[in-house]
Amino acid sequence: MRTLSGIQPSGKLHLGNYFGYVRPNIEWHKKADVGMIMIADLHALTTMRDPALLRSSIEDMMLDLLACGFDPAKTILFRQSDIPEHTELMWMLSTMTPMGLLERAVSFKEKVEKGIAASAGLFNYPVLQAADIVLYDIDKVPVGKDQQQHLEITRDIIVKFNNAYDDVLVVPEGVIKEDVAVVPGTDGQKMSKSYGNTIPLFGSEKEIQKAIMGIVTDSKGVAEPKDPESCSVFNIHKLFLSKTETEELAAKYKAGGLGYGDAKKLLFTAYMDTFGPMRQKREELQKKPQDIQSVIDEGTKKASVVAKATMAKVRKAVGLR
Ligand code: AMP
Repeated sequence: MRTLSGIQPSGKLHLGNYFGYVRPNIEWHKKADVGMIMIADLHALTTMRDPALLRSSIEDMMLDLLACGFDPAKTILFRQSDIPEHTELMWMLSTMTPMGLLERAVSFKEKVEKGIAASAGLFNYPVLQAADIVLYDIDKVPVGKDQQQHLEITRDIIVKFNNAYDDVLVVPEGVIKEDVAVVPGTDGQKMSKSYGNTIPLFGSEKEIQKAIMGIVTDSKGVAEPKDPESCSVFNIHKLFLSKTETEELAAKYKAGGLGYGDAKKLLFTAYMDTFGPMRQKREELQKKPQDIQSVIDEGTKKASVVAKATMAKVRKAVGLR
């Protein structure tokens, strides 16, 4: 199995990214023949207009991912913009992509509704995504339910391309991340940087404490029995717990006597216990930027070999030198 997943460098990693993206991919890569993580900086240009911020976000993302435990021996970690073949293949694919296919993309409409400029780049985003995947002969792509449509678009484009040009590209299959829960934010909605309800992984201890203590709850008093399932503190805390520990915590909620303040303190302790070692690793890595660069250089080298081979096949297939 060859698998790839991209992440935009558009903010600091939060708890939702960890449980919904980082941890599943680390596990997934243990089973893969080739596992790739792409920092999708070209995609980020569709929304980020501040060069200094983009640069520092890319560096932060590399640091965060390595601190979280991606093993460079198992995962090829690279920056999209370091491999020029992404945009070259995108062009080839775009000449085969029906406009109607892109016009039906829900995420384009959603982004425009949110106020993102409706540029040609944003419109063509799924074509670049198709190029990202097929450039590396990827056969399995982990997708959340919200990204299913983009993968279907990729498959449609590649089938069309293969029909026209001798089956040169691998048609990827989506693997739905069924077991990955949506992590709630501090206000109970999905945790997302666009809602300002995140708990950062590598913020200062104070920032994390403030975010956790700010989780919205109802106003039940300490002694009153509480419903764990409708409590965001509980729903976040259970991500850190085994089945038995979750049941024990739920029983405390139902019995009464556990106030929300204390429940939040328990969550803070679990948070620091889990992420403490990663936070320490991040601090150490930060002192050795050359180590991070060498991981990226190594990843780029490996990615580049495959990208060049794919592009040579594609150029030949379409009739270019
Ligand atoms: P984003 O930067 O918001 O696009 O998130 C990057 C990836 O993190 C997404 O593709 C999801 O897999 C994951 N993710 C983000 N927020 C959450 C969440 N609240 N719950 C679960 N997974 C999430």
